[in-house]
Amino acid sequence: MSEPVPDLFDKIVNLSKRRGIVFPSAEIYGGFRSAYDYGPVGVLMLRNVKEAWWRSMVQLRSDVVGIDASILSPPAIWEASGHLANFTDPLVDCRHCGARHRQDKLDDPDTCPTCGTTGQFTEPRHFNLMFKTHAGPVEDEGAVAYLRPETAQGMFINFANVINTSRKKPPLGIAQIGKSFRNEITPGNFVFRTREFEQMELEFFVPPDEAEQWYDYWCKERFQWYVEHGIDESQLRLRPHDDDELSHYSAATSDVEFLFPWGWDELEGIANRGSFDLEQHMAHSGQKLEYYDQATNERYVPHVIEPAAGATRTMMAFLMAAYHDEIVNDETRTVLRLHHRIAPFKAAVLPLSKKPELTGPARELVTELQAHWMVEYDETQAIGRRYRRQDEIGTPFCITYDFDSLEDKAVTIRERDSMDQVRLPIAEVAAWLAERLV
Ligand code: ATP
Repeated sequence: MSEPVPDLFDKIVNLSKRRGIVFPSAEIYGGFRSAYDYGPVGVLMLRNVKEAWWRSMVQLRSDVVGIDASILSPPAIWEASGHLANFTDPLVDCRHCGARHRQDKLDDPDTCPTCGTTGQFTEPRHFNLMFKTHAGPVEDEGAVAYLRPETAQGMFINFANVINTSRKKPPLGIAQIGKSFRNEITPGNFVFRTREFEQMELEFFVPPDEAEQWYDYWCKERFQWYVEHGIDESQLRLRPHDDDELSHYSAATSDVEFLFPWGWDELEGIANRGSFDLEQHMAHSGQKLEYYDQATNERYVPHVIEPAAGATRTMMAFLMAAYHDEIVNDETRTVLRLHHRIAPFKAAVLPLSKKPELTGPARELVTELQAHWMVEYDETQAIGRRYRRQDEIGTPFCITYDFDSLEDKAVTIRERDSMDQVRLPIAEVAAWLAERLV
């Protein structure tokens, strides 16, 4: 069980800056609002989040394949998907201070949260969230292209390609991880809502009469994924959408929500989308997007269950769930109790002194371990401070090479959460780590 950490949000933002996890983008030019750069530690963690998702959703399954589709896309896709007409948020301007807000996210729909004035909002306008650009040198209507606002359409437009080339039949999932872009009216809460972000989406195509059962399956499966990767169940909930929240084509949607410092908020949506997407693309492209089952001589348009998660948002939730301040020997120790699979570095090798007789063999051990994992090497400062540094970025194991190591050919390994230490022959370290790192 985890105790709530006071000021958790600020602590995560500060830690991210201090330890190279996430930097505000373009800082040397005064920053670029709502854009972030992932630093040397953050890039590893984000990759691990995506890799953990891919492992569960693609690698460990025989009924899901992956793709990597184009970000730049023609208007036809977004015409068919409904995004050109409907992917809008209600935008209101405050006549008093000029601030712009998303009407549906306001606590009080009449009061401006920026200046506190009531009754001064303009009528809401439908603001389309897609980033529009031009492909090629001529900026005319014929050259319009969009940056995708979701990865999902890549799976629908490639449905026939995948079915024809993979020798698989529904139930069959197509998975993708990649960047998406939304011109959010009010980005914020650090990397929770940004204009450029990464998604991890699965479109799971099933025979129509199996849709409900697969929807239930994916709701449970996706909730469990966050638990398995280290978030306590008390900080997660699965919230079914009310009828008035559902899109017209969706038979059911549930969100996996995490208890962020500002309250429950979405990590992932799981939707039973029926045959809406394939039907739309059939109607607009004129292509058949059906499955013909030779065994039963049946032809049908598969229904789709879509678990759609955000990689960057999930990384933030993992950081928040893992963050702990605890008192050890009258000092505060900050530790990220990250799941091993998510931790940026799996181990750190720390020679007790900077003397070459220690640093030489310590570096050799790093080289051996780097063949398997991301491993840090650090010879600066006192050993206690180096442990704390690794605790702060969630490194599960610190390996200390000391003067005795020269004699006994052994090292001390300290475990992050318990701080327990064991002495182990150097020759056994790699196998010992392999047994413990999942
Ligand atoms: P919200 O209601 O928060 O705007 P949404 O319901 O529109 O999100 P989806 O279209 O279902 O989001 O996208 C799936 C997932 O992609 C979300 O659950 C979230 O994790 C992630 N996501 C969506 N928009 C953003 C964003 N602007 N920044 C970061 N992640 C995002």
